[in-house]
Amino acid sequence: VSTNAKLQERKLSAFARGQGNVYPVYVERARNAEVWDVEGNRYIDLGTGIAVCNTGHAHPKVVAAVSEQMARFSHTCVMVNPYEVAVELAERLNAAAPGDSAKKALFVTTGAEAVENCIKIARAHTGRRGVIAFNGGFHGRTNLAMGLTGKVAPYKQHFGPFPADLYHVPFPNAYHGISIEQSLSAIETLFKVDIAPGDVAAIIIEPVQGEGGFYLAPPAFLQALRALCDRHGIVLICDEIQTGFARTGRMFYSEYAGVEPDLITMAKGIAGGVPIAAVVGKAEVMDAAPPGGLGGTYGGSPLGCAAALAVLDIIAEEKLVERAAAIGEQFQRRLMALQQRYSHLIGEVRNAGAMIAIELVQNGLASQPNTALTQAIIANASKHGLILLACGFYGNVIRFLPPLTIEDAVLEEGLSKFEGLFAEL
Ligand code: PLP
Repeated sequence: VSTNAKLQERKLSAFARGQGNVYPVYVERARNAEVWDVEGNRYIDLGTGIAVCNTGHAHPKVVAAVSEQMARFSHTCVMVNPYEVAVELAERLNAAAPGDSAKKALFVTTGAEAVENCIKIARAHTGRRGVIAFNGGFHGRTNLAMGLTGKVAPYKQHFGPFPADLYHVPFPNAYHGISIEQSLSAIETLFKVDIAPGDVAAIIIEPVQGEGGFYLAPPAFLQALRALCDRHGIVLICDEIQTGFARTGRMFYSEYAGVEPDLITMAKGIAGGVPIAAVVGKAEVMDAAPPGGLGGTYGGSPLGCAAALAVLDIIAEEKLVERAAAIGEQFQRRLMALQQRYSHLIGEVRNAGAMIAIELVQNGLASQPNTALTQAIIANASKHGLILLACGFYGNVIRFLPPLTIEDAVLEEGLSKFEGLFAEL
């Protein structure tokens, strides 16, 4: 029989070191918010495979949609012989994206590819070279996406050189003392010192930084970026790979600011675990690249499209936008109470809907990240049947990304287990 320990040993000798894993827990099966390992242990999943299973594990509608599609045909390549599920998905994503402009879609396979394609499209549209991104941001592990990523270790260390013409500025962060004005003036300085605005193709921002620590861009900042991009003819890209598909209590987080990005990246929660990603944007921008310039063998695979259509139905039928907001409120209440009790260890508690985080600190100070405690809690969580993830520049933020379909009782149990981890300290 396989055990977690035996499988971990085999994995360590069979896998490249670079593809590490948080937990030596090997999954046997999973249903909605519950996961069972090969030894029969049960876990409540508050990480959803890094924000992927917004509709839970193995939602029956996703399972049925993928099985039916697989039985009809599994792959022809949308660039060779297209099919209706892809057309329908493009139409529905175009309609779901924020703003009133006519939209078009492009399908790829991963989030990083969606990011790369946004830059290709923005450069083709503007004929410019520069791209501005944010410190602490994360955009993926391909070369250009890594270049845009604002954190060195472990994402960029050893892997350069990265493409030229990429610039980074501070992300506004009230908890860590960076104001909206400071971020905007850093861009103005960049325009004076490094690159003229007329040479900038795009600004890319995660409206809530994901890997960076769940920091929410203030709506006023997104509005200011929109105005700045309009002033200089720069393409505004919102990377909604982690924030999309009801996660934040809106279909896309940009809606909170009433901002219509020129391009949006979509992945993760789009298809309940089937690898598919998309760029959706204003039609005139999306059409800048010539036929054959975009896409890939698996981009918009029939299985991914079928799964994504099922996910869109589930979000509507099960009112997951509203549910994400309610889950967020419940976490906020409980985590704020925990913070009262452990105020020396728990710094800010913040959330955008069901994208929830607490920052672990020493002496109650934002300036003193408590990475060691975070790692200890994450490791201990697994022993108590809880799957948790960390994030943040110093790895001192615990992030909660429960399935939006999680049953009340399971959510309650998960929260109690989490509180119990502090009682053990
Ligand atoms: N952009 C954001 C905001 C992400 O959170 C991620 C993944 O964590 C990516 C891009 C990269 O996506 P993928 O891992 O599918 O390439």
